[in-house]
Amino acid sequence: MKKDIHPKYGSAVVTCACGETFESGSTKKELKVEICSKCHPFFTGKQKFVDTSGRVDKFKKKYGM
Ligand SMILES: [Zn+2]
Repeated sequence: MKKDIHPKYGSAVVTCACGETFESGSTKKELKVEICSKCHPFFTGKQKFVDTSGRVDKFKKKYGM
């Protein structure tokens, strides 16, 4: 028994919507997240691409392309 650490704070298995699982410190044993460091736009840089393609779509619609 480790009585020197906080009893309710242990490692949790975090499951992301993208299928990625990783361990994280939490008061719960299991966590479900919609986004993680593997698929988060901030980490992957995909958001920039999505933004750009969205603008292209708007541009095409605006000019009937
Ligand atoms: Zn993820």
